[in-house]
Amino acid sequence: MNSNISKRIKSSFVILLLIIPFMSCYRAVQHDCLITNVNVVDVNTGEILINRTLAIDSNRISAIYDNEIIGSDSTIVIDGKGKYLIPGLWDMHAHYKWNRIDTEPLLIANGITGVREMWGDMPEYVKVPKNTPQEGVVSPDIYFAADFIDGNPPAFPGSLIVTNSDEAVLAIKNQIDKKVDFLKIYSRLTEEAFMAIAKEAKKRNITFAGHIPNTVSIYKAIEAGMVSSEHLYGFLDACSSVDTSNEALVSTFSEKRFDSICYVLAKSSMWLCPTLVVNRVNIHLNDTIFTNDNRKSYLPGYVIDIWNQRMNSFTKSQMDTFVKSAKPRYLLELSLIGKMNDKGVKFLAGTDFPNPYVFPGFSLHDELSLMVKGGVPALDVLKSATLNPAKFMNKKADFGSVEVGKVASLVLLNKNPLDNIENTKTIETVIVRGKIYSRKALDLMLEQAKSNGK
Ligand SMILES: [Zn+2]
Repeated sequence: MNSNISKRIKSSFVILLLIIPFMSCYRAVQHDCLITNVNVVDVNTGEILINRTLAIDSNRISAIYDNEIIGSDSTIVIDGKGKYLIPGLWDMHAHYKWNRIDTEPLLIANGITGVREMWGDMPEYVKVPKNTPQEGVVSPDIYFAADFIDGNPPAFPGSLIVTNSDEAVLAIKNQIDKKVDFLKIYSRLTEEAFMAIAKEAKKRNITFAGHIPNTVSIYKAIEAGMVSSEHLYGFLDACSSVDTSNEALVSTFSEKRFDSICYVLAKSSMWLCPTLVVNRVNIHLNDTIFTNDNRKSYLPGYVIDIWNQRMNSFTKSQMDTFVKSAKPRYLLELSLIGKMNDKGVKFLAGTDFPNPYVFPGFSLHDELSLMVKGGVPALDVLKSATLNPAKFMNKKADFGSVEVGKVASLVLLNKNPLDNIENTKTIETVIVRGKIYSRKALDLMLEQAKSNGK
């Protein structure tokens, strides 16, 4: 070959080689939104997928590119450089619906894009006058139960009472007519009523979750197919050889019994929603550092009034006795969480807001921190608010991880949450089903909540 031609071919080949990657870096692609150069946290594996460009179209994640992409003129571009993208967080134990207007800004501002509603129509509260809704705030996704199903007398007015199988059939029909996702059961059911509910729920193909009734062991609840147990109720009882008070549950704790119940739980389909934040409140009821938490300023006055009424219904000595008995139990439970996780017990993160000093949105981050404090690795903790809820609800096609095809509910963080779980609070942007809230928009929401509270 003529050396001149050969040179020319070579040089144009070099130019081509230069152009091809250049073109693939910068080809303009039509997308509604791009988050560029972002580190995607893969909650399945704990891997950080570095420098990805994630595309959103309508309300779904439509592509994740590992090369640079530029959008069209109409594409909204969010610079993700140096930031970390996680799935939207779920609070899996909340009482939300009765004041959703005042709660939603706090949830969104904290990256909570999904809520499991554990009973939001409490008759004593639904009529409390609320503030006017903040403009542009959307609802998180909701997985919901309607009413408490409890024994006679029930713990709360307005519960559905079930004492036998006829009543179980009626109550479940009533709840299914309300198009619930699951049934919420409560502490005062008798064993007979509990078993009747389990049988009818199976027949009607609906799950049941909530408090393991006082008369039912966790083993029996697992066997009956209860899908989640709240507040670790029934767990320490299964670790103890006696059936008695809180303090005795702690002093009679048996490592062997602990291993047995963890083994059974790990193999079962029951998830535990420990709600450590609400359990922790019980040991700080008489503590001013706790009761003066300045996050109270974000809550509407009527919530603080409800909290104060609840607190004032106890005398000082009742409170002290309660705290004294709750403390060893809480500390033991906290110390066991990590070991339970090691043994394969499955966790969901939940808060039980708005119980006193449990703050919608904010407290889910506290829950995650407490789980880490109890010995659960950060990745597993992050799963408990993302992937695990999706698995639990049987909605893995829509939620739980940052993957193509899933709902675009996402949280962009300034720091890596796997380095330190507290980094889930370093929120830069929240996206709810494709709707984008910048840090500035989130701050405005919080400011508005504060001024509504006054
Ligand atoms: Zn609750």
